[in-house]
Amino acid sequence: MKTSSCRVAIIGGGPSGLALAAELARGGIDDVVLLEREANAGGIPRHCGHSPFGLREFHRILSGPEYARRLASRAQRLGTRLRTAATVTEIGQQGNLTLSTVAGIESLIAEKIVICTGNRETPRAARLVSGSRPLGIVTTGALQSMVYLKHRLPFTRPLIVGSELVSFSALLTCRHAGIKPVAMIDSHARVIAWRGAALLPRLLGTRLLLNASLQAIHGEERVTEVTIRDARGDLMSLECDGVIFSGNFVSESSLVRASHLELDAASGGPRVDQYGRCSDEDYFACGNMLHPVDTAAWCWAEGAHTAAGVHASLAGRLNALQRRLQVNCGSPAIRYFMPQVIALPHPDCGTIPPAAHDSLQVRFNDNLSGRLALCDENGELSARNIRARRERRVLLPLPAYERLSRSQSLSLEFQPTQD
Ligand SMILES: Cc1cc2nc3c(=O)[nH]c(=O)nc-3n(C[C@H](O)[C@H](O)[C@H](O)COP(=O)(O)OP(=O)(O)OC[C@H]3O[C@@H](n4cnc5c(N)ncnc54)[C@H](O)[C@@H]3O)c2cc1C
Repeated sequence: MKTSSCRVAIIGGGPSGLALAAELARGGIDDVVLLEREANAGGIPRHCGHSPFGLREFHRILSGPEYARRLASRAQRLGTRLRTAATVTEIGQQGNLTLSTVAGIESLIAEKIVICTGNRETPRAARLVSGSRPLGIVTTGALQSMVYLKHRLPFTRPLIVGSELVSFSALLTCRHAGIKPVAMIDSHARVIAWRGAALLPRLLGTRLLLNASLQAIHGEERVTEVTIRDARGDLMSLECDGVIFSGNFVSESSLVRASHLELDAASGGPRVDQYGRCSDEDYFACGNMLHPVDTAAWCWAEGAHTAAGVHASLAGRLNALQRRLQVNCGSPAIRYFMPQVIALPHPDCGTIPPAAHDSLQVRFNDNLSGRLALCDENGELSARNIRARRERRVLLPLPAYERLSRSQSLSLEFQPTQD
């Protein structure tokens, strides 16, 4: 088996991985390899044919593919070695990676590894929708890659399931391809994306059914009809020729699940500290695999911020942060949070590098108001009154290290407001 080595290996060439690669190169790390399983780097935006992407990163409005191309060429221009069509199949101790490439199985040993494998939507099988199994059932990602990359039309009158931001991305993809969705449904009482987004289906002539759930899909070869339970609890049939399952994101963490790294069951990603460091300190993680789901611009910024920690770790400057305090959380309202660990420096270790995450990022199970607090055995260390919305991030600033120096245990607590 061919074996090679590098200083930093980045797994995944989406916005977070490409921003990290560019920033490491800018910081003088000259042996960075980025491994991407697809034929081109760029991640999800490669097949998001619509705008707006790139305002924060390039100060102009770009389509997804143009944004992906610019990110990849910037990283390459700065010296990153982009290895496409290279899938990482295993991650091991001492920075050992196994790759599957067109030339066969390879081994790559890296001093530091950053996992940036993103997230994916929940497909039909995992949603347990009954009925038959005809053609024409896709996720938004699959639809976009068919429409924008392969120029194929999988259907002409599909149903869209979901009302997250990505569901509206599905609607725009359909419009681009001349596909006319028959309806958009969501089991919640209001759209999960911003309230104003509810206007878009109406403007495009698509029915929006809230408090409605998909019960069954019918059809022999192709989808012909679906059964929906509507807001009154009645069953109704809707003729259509396809179903788009949009959103309901999960972390793309199959590599982590099969590895020695500690997994955070709630987020689905690896447990990380405020630098994005995993339980094996040679490994870091960033982007949507840590917090399904955020925008490309957010993941890009996180990739750039994570570079400082990777750089410092290569130089041994994170060794002073050895006391790792776990943050515990027993609140049923909180779906997940990250980072799950805060690494504390020795009091006399001097200046330490800036962390990638200066706040806890928290997701709630429902639309709720209340007080969110990070506490130790002596009381609140950081707290905010918040109004949480399903699938939107809430940030709680991390306290200064001096305030944490005497803490023995940390807990994230949420007290809902009584109406
Ligand atoms: C269908 C869809 C539409 C979206 N639309 C928008 C939008 O319009 N605007 C927006 O801001 N955000 C959108 N998003 C959110 C999107 O996830 C982020 O924009 C952004 O792409 C996340 O960046 P990332 O670097 O974390 O991961 P990704 O962009 O997901 O990149 C991860 C990369 O890792 C690679 N990879 C995974 N596993 C391996 C492996 N084992 N070996 C090698 N490579 C691997 C993948 O091929 C991929 O290229 C959308 C998401 C989806 C799924």
